[in-house]
Amino acid sequence: MSEALLALGGNVGNSRAILDRAVALFCDGIAVRLTARSSDYLTPPWGLKYQAPFVNLCIAVDTALRPRDLLMRAQSVELSLGRDRAHEKRWGPRTADIDILAYDDIEIDELGLTLPHPYLFERAFVLVPLAEIAPDRVIAGRKVIDALAGLEASGIERLEPIL
Ligand code: ATP
Ligand code: CA
Ligand code: CA
Repeated sequence: MSEALLALGGNVGNSRAILDRAVALFCDGIAVRLTARSSDYLTPPWGLKYQAPFVNLCIAVDTALRPRDLLMRAQSVELSLGRDRAHEKRWGPRTADIDILAYDDIEIDELGLTLPHPYLFERAFVLVPLAEIAPDRVIAGRKVIDALAGLEASGIERLEPIL
């Protein structure tokens, strides 16, 4: 079994419901077991500024899948929730995006898969939810809470759980 940390986000449709469904589809309890889930956060868009705010969250999972297979599973969940990569802009609006942030302490830099995720330490919208579930996790030599301390995170709002 390996441990993976993932970030989910979306800003098209009912994002909280869609991401909830994404977590349920991705974590079937067999190949991928959910071990922690952050709150949902409302976050200002990153990269492409003029679009709706995003909902972001992070999860931790135990999995027997290898990194490539985990990525394929993430992409098939994105597809089944209506993501249309062919017609979207980079960092633009999307229903559901699932990124692998880290997989054990594996380092990969290949076409189509980089681990740890290359923009992890630049993104408060990832580190804020990640710090909720894995504050002391060290990724690429940096502790999550220390990495977050160096970022501007004031626009990020924790959302109350939906009952
Ligand atoms: P960003 O990667 O900057 O967050 P994005 O999530 O909008 O951008 P996508 O269009 O979802 O980008 O993915 C582009 C490609 O990134 C995917 O086809 C995938 O192969 C690749 N990729 C590389 N490393 C990872 C990773 N760690 N997790 C998810 N996708 C990755
Ligand atoms: Ca992403
Ligand atoms: Ca992605």
